Amino acid sequence: MKIPAIAWIIIGLFISIVSGLIELKLFIWAGLVFIIIGIGKLIKEFALKEEKENKETKTQQKEYYCPRCKAKINPQSYYCQMCGQRLR
Ligand SMILES: [Zn+2]
Repeated sequence: MKIPAIAWIIIGLFISIVSGLIELKLFIWAGLVFIIIGIGKLIKEFALKEEKENKETKTQQKEYYCPRCKAKINPQSYYCQMCGQRLR
């Protein structure tokens, strides 16, 4: 079961506030642990998302097309494999 990061923070806040009201100090700490886990998960999700976006831009940059026949070409190759157009 996957719990979203924001749910951890909400649960943590809820536990902290409720235990604060009824003066259960141990549960305030338990709530704080939940909040910390939630924040940690948020950071992790953010980092993963950014990494994924970076990968996507890299793959986009790697795509080259022949100026003559518009075929997809290898950026390392000197000539187009489809029509023989010189690329560099
Ligand atoms: Zn070509």
